[in-house]
Amino acid sequence: MYRKPLLLIACYCLAQVVAQAQITDPKATEVWTPEPRVVTPGTAGKAPSDALVLFNGSHLKEWYSAKDSSAAAWIINADSSMTVKPGSGNLQTRRSFGDCQLHLEFRTPSVVKGDGQGRGNSGVFLQNRYEVQVLDSYQNRTYSNGQAGSIYKQTMPLVNVCRAPGEWQTYDILFTAPRFNADGIQVAPGRVTVLQNGVVVQLNTEIKGTTEYIGLPKVIAHGKGPLVLQDHDNTTSFRNIWIREL
Ligand code: MG
Repeated sequence: MYRKPLLLIACYCLAQVVAQAQITDPKATEVWTPEPRVVTPGTAGKAPSDALVLFNGSHLKEWYSAKDSSAAAWIINADSSMTVKPGSGNLQTRRSFGDCQLHLEFRTPSVVKGDGQGRGNSGVFLQNRYEVQVLDSYQNRTYSNGQAGSIYKQTMPLVNVCRAPGEWQTYDILFTAPRFNADGIQVAPGRVTVLQNGVVVQLNTEIKGTTEYIGLPKVIAHGKGPLVLQDHDNTTSFRNIWIREL
């Protein structure tokens, strides 16, 4: 009863052997087209040439207040950073994104106030749903799947590589959005890799659904979504935010 599949496998293996035997020219396995386009790499504080700059210190035109759709009210500082204005609500990008590479820098307050989740709490929501936690986790214990570098309440970071309060830190995030079929069924989960201060804290981590404060993740079909920065009533700052859709 297995004769047919076995025959097919045998034919395939034979075809592979024949194909291998026929290749004698190294050029036969060279691929020349298409050619990857040229991108000028960024330098410290400067985005690569093909990135969309979401914030460089001069304005907040790419953002608005998620709370009431009014103009973004966070505070722009003289050092080209911006700081959460507590109570003004989350900041949301005007544009929506799918798969992407995101770079941002953040700084939790140098004057330490509060503890646990109340210290420098903010967050980066990919597609307005999936939070990469921003927190002052420098000598500040909280639940592991809620500390800096976690996919909030889902996956703890591989290590705690936080700098001290008041020091600038980087997140480089590689995100593959979840895929849904025409019936709204998820056919592939979202995945995310996060480098904090150049160190991997999430490696191709499966996103289990929305990152809920209470309860389990929810899987609900969606398309592209905006990037959101969280107002958690702590005066965390951000600078040099850019994104490349992939
Ligand atoms: Mg948060």
